[in-house]
Amino acid sequence: MGVNSGIQWTDDTLNAIVGCSWRSPACDNCYARYDVNRMARNPRLEEQLDGLVDGSSGELKWTGRVQFFPERLDAVLRVHRGRRYFTNSLSDLFHENLDEDVIQKHFKTFREAHQHTFQILTKRSQRLRELSPNIDWPCNVWMGVTVEDVRRLDRIPDLAATQARIKWVSFEPWLSDPATPLCEAVPNLRNRLEGIDWAVIGGESSKTKYGARPMLFEDVRYLIGECRAAGAKVFLKQLGTLWAIASGTNDAMGDDGKPVKKAKSGGEPSLWPAEFQSPSLREFPDVRVMESFAASEAIDNSVGPDKASKSDPPDGCPAPDQSAADSDHSDLSCSPSVHKPAAAKDMTHPAPTSRPTTHKSKSRSQRRWNRQRKNTYWIFEE
Ligand code: SF4
Repeated sequence: MGVNSGIQWTDDTLNAIVGCSWRSPACDNCYARYDVNRMARNPRLEEQLDGLVDGSSGELKWTGRVQFFPERLDAVLRVHRGRRYFTNSLSDLFHENLDEDVIQKHFKTFREAHQHTFQILTKRSQRLRELSPNIDWPCNVWMGVTVEDVRRLDRIPDLAATQARIKWVSFEPWLSDPATPLCEAVPNLRNRLEGIDWAVIGGESSKTKYGARPMLFEDVRYLIGECRAAGAKVFLKQLGTLWAIASGTNDAMGDDGKPVKKAKSGGEPSLWPAEFQSPSLREFPDVRVMESFAASEAIDNSVGPDKASKSDPPDGCPAPDQSAADSDHSDLSCSPSVHKPAAAKDMTHPAPTSRPTTHKSKSRSQRRWNRQRKNTYWIFEE
């Protein structure tokens, strides 16, 4: 589980843009519109989030308006401990109503904040493909597309055509066609996954009992096998709400007498069938991210954005941190071709959970931490 996020494959969320519109069937159970609607009731955010969602028809819908909050983007420059940020979980960075300037500002910030990794997902793969040549792709960006069914497989070539260093596909929510298993609909799926570094697989979650759609185990096995055959690492996130209900694990209680986290969406691996209980199904791309930078005790926590930019490597990519405590992460190459094999320890992603400990920086760090925590209303917790 992430430091500040309930999403298993990230540490935190960064929402500098808010607002969206329906794009494809994966959006049917979009949680973000409910989150935004709830946040808009906060008097401090009411004005900023006004008009992004509309419930006048009895159903909560996006209006298509997208709001940019530049201060939220700048804030990551002041977080010095490296994190994986799921970027824009309340919108789509390639939304048609977003100016290219705003998109470019995101990538400029990603490059400057090279201590972090930014995980981006889009369902607007065509716009991603169109804008890709204009983007100076930093290596700390993992660019992904959502593919929820067979028809949406055509987003993968759009992603493959970009210059992103790490490319990934989110097969979540995977919406199975019960009449036609994926292996029959798309034989040799592996051929369409060439160049993909990482695949997240997950069944649909829904807060309503009948709102979620099924994900066949047959499809899960096929996706795992084909992704691996194509050289992609696999992260099986959850088996979905329908499976959790059917298996009776949705109300599982832990030893502490509290409900098991993620049980309702089938996201707790210890509750899964034995065939899926493997650390190798919770892997990350083979890339040296800046975890060593974060783990290093030698880091100067007083460094601000201006100072930090002076240490930028020439091409904006993370430079090897020779003082890293964890030497296994000291090779910070971003080229998939020179990656080391991912180890099972990736399941316990070593992103920092504690505040800086040096006496000198403690009070400043404490204040910074408190500021971040005050902004928790921006953080989506699934
Ligand atoms: S693209 Fe994402 S945020 Fe936008 S409507 Fe679809 S699920 Fe919701």
